[in-house]
Formats: sequence, C-alpha cells, structure tokens
Amino acid sequence: MSSPNSSQLHAAAGCSSGQMFLQPVWDRLRTREALTQSPFFPVIFAITTYVSFCLPFVVLDLLCPWVPALRRCKIQPDSAPSARQLLSCLRQTLYQHLVIVFPLTLVHWARSPALPPPEAPALPQLLGHVVLCLLLFDAEFFAWHVLHHRVPWLYRTFHKVHHQNAPSFALATQYVSVWELFSLGFFDVVNVWLLQCHPLTVLVFHTLNIWLSVEDHSGYDFPWSTHRLVPFGWYGGVVHHDLHHSHFNYNFAPYFTHWDRLWGTLRPPRAR
Ligand SMILES: [Zn+2]
Ligand SMILES: [Zn+2]
Repeated sequence: MSSPNSSQLHAAAGCSSGQMFLQPVWDRLRTREALTQSPFFPVIFAITTYVSFCLPFVVLDLLCPWVPALRRCKIQPDSAPSARQLLSCLRQTLYQHLVIVFPLTLVHWARSPALPPPEAPALPQLLGHVVLCLLLFDAEFFAWHVLHHRVPWLYRTFHKVHHQNAPSFALATQYVSVWELFSLGFFDVVNVWLLQCHPLTVLVFHTLNIWLSVEDHSGYDFPWSTHRLVPFGWYGGVVHHDLHHSHFNYNFAPYFTHWDRLWGTLRPPRAR
C-alpha cells in the first residue's frame, strides 16, 4: 500500500482549505530541495526572474516603431533605448549580482534554518503577508527616496545614477548604485523577517516585487497595468514612476499613492 502524501496527511489533520490549496504547490517545491536550498538559488532566482520580466519589454521596444497600437500604449512614444543603453544596464545588473548580491545571499543562506517547514501557509495568510510586505517596502523606499532627493550630496553620490536613463525602460530598473541596491535588498529581506513569512510567501513576494519594479520602469501603460487594476487611485505604478523620472520632485513612492498624497508630492498623470 502506498504511503499518504503531505496533502492527504494535512486533509486528515483537518488543515484549512487555504492551506490545502497551497500544499500541493509547496510539496512540489520541496521535492526540488536540492535546487531551492542551494546557496546559488537566491541569486539565480533573482537574476533569472528579473531578466525574464525585462525581456518581453525589450522585444516590445524593438517592435514599437513599427506597431502603431503599441506606440499608443507607450507613455513617451518617441523614446526608445539604444542597444548601448540596454547592454550597459544588463552588464551592470549581472556584475552587481555576481559581486554584491551573491556574497550577501551566501551569508544569509548560511544563517538560515536548514529545513523548510513541511506545511504550506494558509492562502489568506500568504496574501495578507504579501500585501503587508509591499506596503512596508513602499513606505521604506518612499522615506529613502525623499531623503536621497532632498539632500544634494546623497542624490549626487547614490541616486543620480538611477536617473541617468530618462525616459526609463525595463532594463534600467536595476541600474542603481551599490548603496541603492543594498538598501532595496535590505528592505526586501527585513520585512519578510519582521513578519516571519513562510518561505513560499517570501518567494511570492520577491517575484511580485521584481515584476512591479520592472513594470514601473517599462514605459508602457497597458489596459492591464497594475495601476488600472487597483481601485480608487491607490496605486500609482508605471505612469507615476515615469513622471518621477521626468520631473524628479514628485511621486517618490514606488507603488502606492498614499505617502505622496500625505507628503504633498503626488503629481497625477494627465489623462491619456
Ligand atoms: Zn526609477
Ligand atoms: Zn528618484
């Protein structure tokens, strides 16, 4: 007789339907422990996810001059990154991941518990933690961003490099100084630690955070862009961040609009 798998054991133990929904996904991931527990996994995951999210936008930028429907979705239709800009951004991202991100994730890996928990998180808990992580990241980066624009030395030394590529494009997302990269990574990691997130939640949050940051810099405002899916103008997204790259002193929050609204730095885009 075959032994019951984790899902069946959890059903027998009466675990929640949300947990039941995620348990097969988690069980499948745990069968790939050799990969997911490897010290190389965080950096391979970060770089492959980032480049995979950027590549479709690189293709769209190549097609844009020839496809009028695509040009209508481009926020600044006359702009297109040059091959030199694309290569320079990609080179810097790969270099920083190898020289900065990999050693840091190696230290983090060495300090992490060896075995992941056998139970998946409940779906409401995963969703709640992901939203909380995004809200915390948004608040932390807002404060960091305002400070690095308000203090000229901080701007010149640490943040100016990110504003070199204007108008923005997807591969310019991580074209940042080492200090900015470190700060972003720190906010990413500290929030999941503060909330004691399940490893599956951490994976979902990091994937979503990379996607939203790439979308912010893509320069494309599609009918399905995140800011059109979130109601009441709570989410600024690509149209707000594109305005930040062209007008500097507005729209400091990367995702949501409440901090800029409170701080008096919200600049809504003109209707398209
Ligand atoms: Zn930016
Ligand atoms: Zn800025």
